[in-house]
Amino acid sequence: MSMRGTVESVLLSEPEIQQRIDLLGEEINRDYAGRELLAVCLLKGSVVFMSDLIRRLQMPLTIDVMRASSYGDATESSGSVKILQDLDRDISGLDVLVVEDIVDTGRTLAKTLDLLRFRQPRSLKICTLLDKPSRREVQIPIDYTGFVIEDHFVVGYGLDFDEHYRQLPYIGILKL
Ligand code: 5GP
Repeated sequence: MSMRGTVESVLLSEPEIQQRIDLLGEEINRDYAGRELLAVCLLKGSVVFMSDLIRRLQMPLTIDVMRASSYGDATESSGSVKILQDLDRDISGLDVLVVEDIVDTGRTLAKTLDLLRFRQPRSLKICTLLDKPSRREVQIPIDYTGFVIEDHFVVGYGLDFDEHYRQLPYIGILKL
């Protein structure tokens, strides 16, 4: 088995990430105090962030997962996003927080949000660990952001290259 590329440098260390998630958790706890939340994990890149984030949350919480096609999929050029795995339950009337790994062009998330909005949740907010605003093509209101980063291709902490590197506890810049 071989893994392509090497991690050239560490962009965000494990303690930096964990400290930032402490603060995000506090903010989300404040905003949703007295309410119940459904956290939606966008697979697969967000699983690590999601699992760390929800362990900081104190309100009554349920989780669900969803998978939409992104990068490298044939659908990208057509501008349509394919839902590869949908939520288990109806979200109408619920407070929904979508948990994302990284917002890049914003295309995948924009389409996913359109679909979720159509199902009439009581509220719909977005929490992303990373934001790469320099590459944005579709404007998306992001409610909670971990870190704003430059235009690097990053891996680790859930983010992959060719399905590898997801297990790194830090975020690194990949050199091919
Ligand atoms: P968007 O539709 O915003 O362009 O794409 C978002 C998705 O592309 C993310 O959820 C992620 O899966 C992937 N992506 C975007 N930038 C990066 C990156 O720097 N590294 C990795 N590993 N994936 C990325």
